[in-house]
Amino acid sequence: MSLMGQMMHMPLLISSLLTHAARHNGDVEIVSKRVEGDMHRTTWSEVELRSRKLAQALARLGLKAGERVGTLAWNGYRHLEIYYGVSGSELICHTVNPRLFPQQVAWIINDAEDKVLFVDLNILPLIEKLIPSLPTVKAVVVMVARSHMPAETAIPNLLCYEELIEAEDGHYTWPQFDENTAASICYTSGTTGNPKGAVYSNRSTVLHAYAAALPDAMSVSTVDTVLPVVPMFHVNAWGLPYSGALIGCKLVLPGHHLDGASLYDLFEKEKVTFSAGVPTIWLGLINHVKQNNLKFSTFKRTVVGGAACPPAMIRTLEDEFGVQVIHAWGMTEMSPLGTLGRLKSKHADLPVEAQHRLLEKQGKVIYGVDMRIVDAEGQVLPWDGKTSGDLEVRGHWVISSYFKVDKSPLHDGWFPTGDVATIDADGYMQVTDRSKDVIKSGGEWISSIDLENVAMGHPAVHEAAAIAAFHPKWDERPLLVVVKKPGAEVTREEILAFYDGKIPKWQLPDDVVFTDEIPHTATGKIYKLKLREQFKDHNLPTV
Ligand code: ADP
Repeated sequence: MSLMGQMMHMPLLISSLLTHAARHNGDVEIVSKRVEGDMHRTTWSEVELRSRKLAQALARLGLKAGERVGTLAWNGYRHLEIYYGVSGSELICHTVNPRLFPQQVAWIINDAEDKVLFVDLNILPLIEKLIPSLPTVKAVVVMVARSHMPAETAIPNLLCYEELIEAEDGHYTWPQFDENTAASICYTSGTTGNPKGAVYSNRSTVLHAYAAALPDAMSVSTVDTVLPVVPMFHVNAWGLPYSGALIGCKLVLPGHHLDGASLYDLFEKEKVTFSAGVPTIWLGLINHVKQNNLKFSTFKRTVVGGAACPPAMIRTLEDEFGVQVIHAWGMTEMSPLGTLGRLKSKHADLPVEAQHRLLEKQGKVIYGVDMRIVDAEGQVLPWDGKTSGDLEVRGHWVISSYFKVDKSPLHDGWFPTGDVATIDADGYMQVTDRSKDVIKSGGEWISSIDLENVAMGHPAVHEAAAIAAFHPKWDERPLLVVVKKPGAEVTREEILAFYDGKIPKWQLPDDVVFTDEIPHTATGKIYKLKLREQFKDHNLPTV
């Protein structure tokens, strides 16, 4: 008979992250740029106390274990308190992306059956419009003090956040319950079909928070000042509000001003050392810093993910600004972290160019996640860095099913990511494309990411997107859509010539079109679906 371990069993609860932060790093600051316009400073210990008061307030509002509490809010300390007050009291925090189409916001709130909504002041007009179509919502809490509450409203039960907190005494002990209890829900953006809810547990969230902080992952520690640009409604800001408590670092929460100038100001004033966000955010920041001849005095490392980080962006951040880029891949269904681009010790002596090539890939998995690539028949493919296949994952923080969807999304116990990738012998994964974005030319596949990465390296290109355009002979051929840098001039022929020697000739885009703006999704990624629609009648000169 096996001998059981004789160690304490303490459920991995989200509240334990916060109580740890308050007890051991209680005086460390949480700085927020508020919707009210000012800067606000608090500490982990204050956040913990107010989260307990919030938990009391939620109970007073009549919420019961397992019920969903929605948030429509930017990154700020009150949102942080809601994360912990809600999940810590056995309720489920449902972060809603306010940038989605209003009908989608309503659909998501109704699907989750949110009972209470916490809303930032400048998002309130959206909820005022939607409230008649949100039958489950019993109260809407505006995340401000009484002095900022709107004088009039169409919402029947409109409450004030600070009044809710002030009414409580904080005599509350975080309840202990099963670590597998749901903690939060995040919906996929649903660019095809309705959004689907990923339900994270307390356990999966705590394990993800541990792993994300590791030196070979995000590599954040208590000495860092962390500014998550990635919104708290986008896969829980990639877990940084949890990892931040686990390591007890200073957090800088930027509110809703994510333009280059506002971010730069915060980075400098608050001595930010670490950040994380999607590539488009860094485009804005890089432009601002370059145009104004600025430099970063404390900013050292950033995680870039959510979409492929163009190699040219990595080079600019590292070579011109001294900011190390950690390229990361993940998805809502994975909490989100899967892989990160870090070197192994055997790569230390590689020529710098070869190191760069490795770090441009999406990287190695962290412990807790496993991956494989398979072909159309489900046969497992080799890790040779060349063979590409459908990427599948499994792990402690990978979903096993979607909220309210009976049909299992799994294939043979693995979650199919919808990405197409290669994996090399050292376990470095490279995403060639999302399967729906791959350009299928004759029988061959062309990676839209490869085409975009080359174009982004051209000095006159601000942003580039490659999409499939209809071709009578090949079915699909690549069309490159380009936004020029302000003041820059470049021709179609110059862009095409720039591909010389960088990709096989047959993959060369059939045409280049210039546009003022490339559409982005609510999470800041290139909106390929919309772009394809926009250019569906484009006549390729090669036809
Ligand atoms: P959505 O974009 O639908 O909101 P997610 O935010 O979960 O959903 O996006 C996950 C997808 O984003 C991945 O499946 C992948 O296609 C893409 N992605 C994320 N990180 C990267 C990366 N570093 N390189 C390329 N693609 C990425």
